Amino acid sequence: MAQSGASANHASSKSAGSTKVEAAATPARSAPQKAMDKLGLVRDIDLALHLPLRYEDETRLTLLRDARDGQTVQVEGIVSENRIEARGRRQLIVRLDDGTGEVLLRFLNFYGSQQKSWAPGVRLRARGELRHGFWGREMVHPTVRIVSDNTPLAASLTPVYPTSAGLPQAYLRKAVASGLSRAPLEELIPPELLPGRWPRLRDALHFLHHPSPEVAVEALEDHSHPAWQRLKFEELLAQQVSQMQARAERAHLKAPVLKAVPQGLQERLLAVLPFQLTAAQQKVCEEIAQDLQRPQPMHRLLQGDVGSGKTVVAALAAAVAMDAGWQCALMAPTEILAEQHFRKLVGWLEPLGIKVAWLTGSLKAKAKRAQLEAVASGEAQLVVGTHAVIQDQVEFAKLGLALIDEQHRFGVAQRLQLRRKLESSELEPHLLMMSATPIPRTLAMTYLADLEVSTIDELPPGRTPIVTKVFADTRRPDVVERIRDEVAKGSQVYWVCPLIDETEDSDQAADELAGRASNRRPPLDLSNVTQTHQELSEALAGFGVGLLHGRLPAAEKADVMARFASGELSVLVATTVIEVGVDVPNASLMVIEHAERFGLSQLHQLRGRVGRGAVASVCVLLYASPLSDSGKQRLKAMAETTDGFEIARRDLEIRGPGEFMGSRQSGAALLRFADLNEDQGLVARARQVAEIMLRDHPDAAQRHVARWLGQKSEFLKA
Ligand code: ADP
Ligand code: MG
Repeated sequence: MAQSGASANHASSKSAGSTKVEAAATPARSAPQKAMDKLGLVRDIDLALHLPLRYEDETRLTLLRDARDGQTVQVEGIVSENRIEARGRRQLIVRLDDGTGEVLLRFLNFYGSQQKSWAPGVRLRARGELRHGFWGREMVHPTVRIVSDNTPLAASLTPVYPTSAGLPQAYLRKAVASGLSRAPLEELIPPELLPGRWPRLRDALHFLHHPSPEVAVEALEDHSHPAWQRLKFEELLAQQVSQMQARAERAHLKAPVLKAVPQGLQERLLAVLPFQLTAAQQKVCEEIAQDLQRPQPMHRLLQGDVGSGKTVVAALAAAVAMDAGWQCALMAPTEILAEQHFRKLVGWLEPLGIKVAWLTGSLKAKAKRAQLEAVASGEAQLVVGTHAVIQDQVEFAKLGLALIDEQHRFGVAQRLQLRRKLESSELEPHLLMMSATPIPRTLAMTYLADLEVSTIDELPPGRTPIVTKVFADTRRPDVVERIRDEVAKGSQVYWVCPLIDETEDSDQAADELAGRASNRRPPLDLSNVTQTHQELSEALAGFGVGLLHGRLPAAEKADVMARFASGELSVLVATTVIEVGVDVPNASLMVIEHAERFGLSQLHQLRGRVGRGAVASVCVLLYASPLSDSGKQRLKAMAETTDGFEIARRDLEIRGPGEFMGSRQSGAALLRFADLNEDQGLVARARQVAEIMLRDHPDAAQRHVARWLGQKSEFLKA
């Protein structure tokens, strides 16, 4: 077996790993290989660019006499005793003596062969955290190897790589070390475009995988070291080049020219709307109209705060496309939201002679077939639904415009699928994405070089501002009293409960595609929401109290929503399934229980469900003590402002940029090393260098993208 890399001959305590390494020589994909495929570690270069999360120092030994409890140290000594403890949990206990002290090594999972080989008299090197245990000083599951009295210490720090289940660290280290030794790492960026203090790529990589023990670990771990700067720059450059290429490619694509006609559908729709467009809506409609008239596909993000009226803007754009004889698709991230859009659009458009089809995953086979036929024949001019709208069986007769609501909620996989769908037609459709989560300016301008942005920056008139009150949950009985008064007056109330976990599957798929190890999701805990529902049903006898959460069957969800929308239910106890898009103007009171558990932007989205009618609305945030500092800041921000952009700014302040740019932000998660906010200087430089390289060194630019993004380059365009 090849013995490359600092830890190649390093037997870890999980010896299952090393057995599998030997098996790797056979052609069948072993479990660790499959895990590596999943992480996107396929080519040598992928392995070389898989950088350590942190390091372990195996370059020195600590005497047990000098080591303190709580310290992670490497010690070396002779085994003095070795036994299996059967009382309590079965475990292997190895007593190690280094001449200055003793330590017990405890293994809860072990092989019989380990007990045999770690026999008394054998010299062991063990690395782990020292602590004081029941039987004395101990290390639980240390990394252990058998050594002789002259086995050299590691020459460099030992890398610890991001990994996933089924991929042991020891296996991965070996794979990375050999990938690194084989990967072609010639310089592709002309040196005059890089600062002189940055190392060459090859040197930077070798250094980051195996740094010498003298280096300041902080500079490695906070990524400020010049080697890290070089790597982050490389990554950003790949991203910029691919964005610029995507933009250039788009300029060559052909899309239908869509122009509003006099007395056409758009005008007729405007005439039947029960309101006037705001100036901001008119402005963005104009921007969209300009795009639609061009023979290249539109690629535009429409952002506007919760309740700013994005749906009608989308409908007006759809009207233009349909008038020109093209189909439109509107896709929403949840069934509840899609259903609302469907109802609203049917209400507006069917009287004008438009047939609207409905597609979701929960449709019965027969109904689905009918809808699919209507779409394929072109009989349905508009299709509304969840991501079922872009599935393979869906054939559009003539798709001219795709509208994606709350686009940041869709996973990368779905954005990619949409892209394929769009590309499959001869003329590429126009694309309008909508989001209530504002993209920070810097991000919109630099990172998303391939996206136009329109912003609705005012709310429709006549909205009464929402008053937000923050109470300790000891005030809950008063709040229930208040609800009784409200519903007696005919108002409607949302009561929102947190749920341990209610993310949709799309996120997990996105995680996997983005090469992140997806965490196993904890089981859903519905006790909170069902209990509250029970309690409110009793306290408000005589009034309808509904229950809504993500695990209800689609038909039941739709039914509950319809009964709340019609006013039959006075109170809706719900989880965050109502976070996006739910629109019941008569609802004027919202209570959010355990508000401290929600993120700021989520609270803002939720609160946006009220304040949609003419009545003054109230949002009550109930919290359980004690509040964390950031919890306090979030609730304070909620009480102080209702402006979505201000909320986004505060969110950034409270959480820090890294988290804000989290997985849901427009594919930003595809950046592994660079941070768009922290590394703004690098972003700007990458943008300049990308332009120069595309102009003067197009081949090198292309190879750079292939090196960095490989199969992932597709995702960046999604
Ligand atoms: P969002 O931008 O959050 O998607 P919606 O499109 O759901 O907002 O609109 C929120 C509510 O405001 C809807 O009931 C919609 O019909 C209404 N609305 C939209 N535009 C206007 C307007 N110009 N004047 C009055 N009400 C409007
Ligand atoms: Mg909306």
